Amino acid sequence: MNPSTESVLYDTVIIGGGPAGYTAGLYAARAGLKALLISGASTVSQITVTDLIENYPGIPAGINGFALVESFLNQSVAFGLECITADVQTLEVVNQGGEKTWRVLTDSRTYETISLVIATGAYWRHLGVPGEDAFTGRGVSYCATCDGPFYRQREVAVVGGGNTAIQEAIFLTHFATKVTIVHRHNRLRATGILQQRAFANPKIEMAWNAVVEEIGGAGGVEWIRVKDVVNGATREIPAAGVFIFVGLVPQTTLVKDLVARAQDGAIIVDGDMKTSSPGIFACGDCIHKSLRQVITACGDGATAAYAAQLYVEEFKGEAY
Ligand SMILES: Cc1cc2nc3c(=O)[nH]c(=O)nc-3n(C[C@H](O)[C@H](O)[C@H](O)COP(=O)(O)OP(=O)(O)OC[C@H]3O[C@@H](n4cnc5c(N)ncnc54)[C@H](O)[C@@H]3O)c2cc1C
Repeated sequence: MNPSTESVLYDTVIIGGGPAGYTAGLYAARAGLKALLISGASTVSQITVTDLIENYPGIPAGINGFALVESFLNQSVAFGLECITADVQTLEVVNQGGEKTWRVLTDSRTYETISLVIATGAYWRHLGVPGEDAFTGRGVSYCATCDGPFYRQREVAVVGGGNTAIQEAIFLTHFATKVTIVHRHNRLRATGILQQRAFANPKIEMAWNAVVEEIGGAGGVEWIRVKDVVNGATREIPAAGVFIFVGLVPQTTLVKDLVARAQDGAIIVDGDMKTSSPGIFACGDCIHKSLRQVITACGDGATAAYAAQLYVEEFKGEAY
């Protein structure tokens, strides 16, 4: 069955229900645009799995990630943003008499829009070693906040050397008896203050110059086998849980043939969040940038919505 098509032409369709998407939706709806936000059905905003965000300004006590996104949603809906849950499958360009619009196809419906805001986020890179997929959810995790409490009085391992890996390793010491950080180099990439905290923590042990070769166990994870990249020696480290933080993958397959992307797949935008394709804007973790946080995603979202607003006004001949 063909997906049914909405007869309305939206000013903007925002794809992604995270901080970037909802902020774009809030700004677009408040500016009077007819705006639709499509939030993934089979994926969620990364921040919804985070228990406590304490670096979002104005909320000194911190807030649960799910609660924060819920409040973003409620605030944008109050300004007239339409929201649905669906996975966008394809984007098509529609050329009608020289005027270009976009068709957004989900598995059940098709929407037409003058502009697009891509806010599809990113996901954590996998190691690709034996045992990783088999034990995902049974000892292998990409979210310490979600799964850390399962490892009270157990030993765990963290893979990675960046800010997230070290921050999450420190967090895991609230539960685990020992946290081994496995890092392929002999120094960390994380900021100085995080390094200091990690090195001062008696529960944290470093496995330098080491890569994970296999994750193993009987019913659940019991050990990881690591290889020393300097001398080639292998050894097993006991671990009931393995937390993997080895980089983010921007979720941009949807627009791979439509906009310019960086080598890692992140969408390249200018300061106004314009992509290489007129009428398509992008914001949040899916774009090429250095700091991927809620606050930066929100800022990007506001800028993208404003740029989309100007584009729509120009399109309709309403610009002044
Ligand atoms: C464990 C963890 C802890 C973190 N802690 C913090 C913290 O303390 N402070 C902080 O500031 N940041 C934190 N972050 C980072 C923060 O979560 C991200 O920077 C932020 O969520 C990015 O927002 P976003 O809107 O760009 O993407 P996301 O929040 O990832 O949202 C992406 C949205 O796009 C949707 N989507 C993707 N593809 C499709 C599709 N084809 N169709 C429809 N929808 C689609 C998804 O369903 C989702 O709704 C943390 C991240 C993680 C993983």
